[in-house]
Amino acid sequence: AVLVAGSANVDFLVRAPHIPAPGETVLGGDLTVLPGGKGANQAVACARAGGAATAMLVALGDDLFAPLIEQSLQGAGIALHIVRSPRPTGAALICVSDDAENAITVAPGANMALVPDDLPGLAGVDSLVLQLETPLSTVIAFAKTARAEGVRVILNAAPARALPAELLGAVDILIANQEELAMITGRGGTIADQLKSVGVPYVVATLGAHGCCAFADGAYWLQPAFQVTPVDTTAAGDTFCGVLAAALSMGAVLPDALLRASAAGALATTRLGAQSSVPVRAEVDALIAS
Ligand code: ADP
Repeated sequence: AVLVAGSANVDFLVRAPHIPAPGETVLGGDLTVLPGGKGANQAVACARAGGAATAMLVALGDDLFAPLIEQSLQGAGIALHIVRSPRPTGAALICVSDDAENAITVAPGANMALVPDDLPGLAGVDSLVLQLETPLSTVIAFAKTARAEGVRVILNAAPARALPAELLGAVDILIANQEELAMITGRGGTIADQLKSVGVPYVVATLGAHGCCAFADGAYWLQPAFQVTPVDTTAAGDTFCGVLAAALSMGAVLPDALLRASAAGALATTRLGAQSSVPVRAEVDALIAS
């Protein structure tokens, strides 16, 4: 089984002609309220990928927004470990422009209340999926506990920040986009050089419309992107991570897992929203076969 331990937010999303500049007000379309948050998106992607039993540890407030998140996760068939916090349920304020760029402000709230003791027992868990929208000290503690119990630790290094060696040393698979990878390695240079310098056994760089590449077991792997017409890139990276975790949990080799994750990430860009844009297994199969 895959356990995702991380963030959940309610996304307040509006489309606008362009993303407002500082001090600017832009008249947008109707408000859409949708479940999101990197951890929850990844859990949904993992569950919809089919085959891998998926559970999620999440901290939610005692408010109107928590049920929206719970229903979405449960609806995807995810087993929930909920930590109830006095802080408000996490929220994200998202603006999507007509050219499919996005700008996001996150109010993490309850997500920042997750502490090391909240990690449930890991019996039956083969992979733990983590992101950086919960306290770093908690992420480090979770990674170390999982590592000590022989559970594969998959870290999506988002949002971008520098990471302590203590964390990287407990990670088996690191997934980062270009900006995140540059923050971790603290250097420019080629993607190939950066991938090699991280020092984690498997490192995957996602490159948006350019696909992804990985460095594992001393070799590089390249996976071109699937050709699609994006309308909203929100959760492409999360979908990629969740599907990669599911595929690896089911025993796929890395190139096959990268292929499935890329197809799912591409499909996620063709629809509006976060969890609402995550494809199911049959859609991924159809794109790969096309
Ligand atoms: P993030 O959203 O975290 O920045 P990326 O933009 O790199 O992540 O997207 C993750 C993956 O989703 C990419 O590696 C690619 O496989 C797929 N993807 C993203 N954008 C596109 C696109 N425009 N066309 C096709 N695939 C895409």
